[in-house]
Amino acid sequence: MMADVRLIPCLSDNYAVLVHKDGETILVDAPEAGPIKAALEETGWTLTSVLVTHHHSDHVQAIGAVKGSATVIGPEGEADRIKGLDRTVADGEEFKLGPVRIRAISTPGHTSGPLCYYLPEERIAFTADTLFAMGCGRLFEGDAATMWRSLQTLRAALPDDTDIYCGHEYTLTNARYAHETLPDDVAIAERLEVVREARERKEPTVPTTMAAEKATNPFLRADDPTVAAALGMEGAEPAEVFARLRKGRDGFS
Ligand SMILES: [Zn+2]
Repeated sequence: MMADVRLIPCLSDNYAVLVHKDGETILVDAPEAGPIKAALEETGWTLTSVLVTHHHSDHVQAIGAVKGSATVIGPEGEADRIKGLDRTVADGEEFKLGPVRIRAISTPGHTSGPLCYYLPEERIAFTADTLFAMGCGRLFEGDAATMWRSLQTLRAALPDDTDIYCGHEYTLTNARYAHETLPDDVAIAERLEVVREARERKEPTVPTTMAAEKATNPFLRADDPTVAAALGMEGAEPAEVFARLRKGRDGFS
């Protein structure tokens, strides 16, 4: 039996997620109390754990309001910047919450010590503001080389059939940027249309899959010669290609 997973849109473009298996209900990030409480009420699930990905307020600000008697778990590397943690976990740590097995993966770049969480038996991963559908997070507390290493770590760690839940609905802008950057890429062009239609229907584009990201997320393809060539950077180091991709996205809207 796989876990039940429920995506909860919060604020203008954030996502929280509930994972439920047997008596365990895990909330991943707490952007806004109202929608999270409504989802708990609707499902009848009682929150047992809160997993925090990183210290940004739009991921932690509702922890106190929703936690009840749940245990709050977050990254050791940002523990001094996250209020109300009951327990910290570090890179590579494997732990169980009820029947759910979880592996913490450190992915610095967006912030200095964030964690992604991989649930191998459930075939899902929470990549917060590190890996987005067709994009990646902004570099607030790390340089491009650091973020590129983090994305390579995720690319190696997460199997193709993993459902990827990211922290924001940024996919349409990411897809438009990917298409502008790699106009000859058919898979990106096709996915842009799928994403556009989903957003016109106001449907989420999350979760995505690791297979889709490996194929159509330019930020996971900084070592792909096609991407370097499209940027006029043949032979450049992947970290430099990545830096150029990220810089272009910063100015894109
Ligand atoms: Zn963030």
